[in-house]
Amino acid sequence: MRFRSKQVHAGVTPDPTTGAILTPIYQSTTFVQESVDTYLAKGYSYSRSGNPTVRALEKKLAVLEGGADATCFTTGMSAVHGTMLAFLSAGDHAIISDVAYGGTYRLCTKVLNRFGIDFTFADTADPAAVKAAVRKNTKLFLTETPANPTMKLSDIAAISEIAQAAKAVHVVDNTFLTPCYQQALELGADLSLHSTTKYFDGHNATVGGAVIAKTKELDEKLRFIQNSTGSIMSPQVAWLTLQGCKTLSVRMDQQSANAMAIARYLEKHDKVKQVAYPGLESFSQHELAKKQASGFGAMMWFEVKGGVKAGKQLMDNIELWTLAENLGSVESLITHPVTMTHAAVEKKERERVGIIDGLVRLSVGLEDAEDLIEALEKALAAIKV
Ligand SMILES: *Cc1c(COP(=O)(O)O)cnc(C)c1O
Repeated sequence: MRFRSKQVHAGVTPDPTTGAILTPIYQSTTFVQESVDTYLAKGYSYSRSGNPTVRALEKKLAVLEGGADATCFTTGMSAVHGTMLAFLSAGDHAIISDVAYGGTYRLCTKVLNRFGIDFTFADTADPAAVKAAVRKNTKLFLTETPANPTMKLSDIAAISEIAQAAKAVHVVDNTFLTPCYQQALELGADLSLHSTTKYFDGHNATVGGAVIAKTKELDEKLRFIQNSTGSIMSPQVAWLTLQGCKTLSVRMDQQSANAMAIARYLEKHDKVKQVAYPGLESFSQHELAKKQASGFGAMMWFEVKGGVKAGKQLMDNIELWTLAENLGSVESLITHPVTMTHAAVEKKERERVGIIDGLVRLSVGLEDAEDLIEALEKALAAIKV
């Protein structure tokens, strides 16, 4: 089966007792055992250790990413946390993309560092910098590509080679492109990680996370941590995410087409200094985007002339676009990282990783591109700096 057929059918079989076409929400804490001798005959014992609705989603995600299996977590952050607990111990070292999701950075620098794990935040867009950061005790590489919010890309195949030589696991945070556009495992990664909150759900309805593993052995390590720390996804979240998966490619294709139209419009606007969208020929890593992904996605940023003041004026005057901190949903969202998500980060540190004052991040949704562009036109006209 090809991707679009798999996203509809993989992992889901009609309910054997009723014929229900959708996998039911198995809202049950425990599962009755027939006898001590046949314990786990039906595969389930207690919903922390496994739940049939969650299992259906895990099977679907494994098929979509071409992995051996998948483990679902309560949130994207609990997927990152679970992965680190599964592959890192006190005395170990990990290399993380220097531009990564803020929560990942916080987990490493404020939580896991207390347990004797060392982290290097390296420029994963430059494989030589990654190679230079490798130590004898490096056990894990986490590459986020495209990176949030700068859209910087990293070469998954090149970093996978470095990780393999170091005998370390390579995790790719594949949240921005999903397997619909970026097959992280096929490119060489050992694990593909997702905040399912974003494109898999797609409707601003849940928070969830997943890790798809190349081998059964890697998946078992994740599942052991999931059960030990009690971080399994809930059956309702799994059910909603299962429905979201079925339209993933349709949403991504349309949202990406909208994003391309918006990027081309912004690129020509005289109040816009620069636009970063991997689909534009002017994007510095456009060739890498074409090489390792089959689509450019629906995330971008642009810089307005006039810095923070202009950015705020734009936000204050925007209609249709929602000022909110999620991404990947059918609703178009706009954020100004310097006054919102990254307000607590010092200016020097922000600028070092490319989060400049006038940066406006867009998560392009499913509305009509013309309406989205008209709303931007009005808000840009309102900038008086
Ligand atoms: C949102 C996000 C996360 C964290 O996911 P949550 O579901 O919010 O916990 C991790 N990585 C990336 C790239 C994200 O965008």
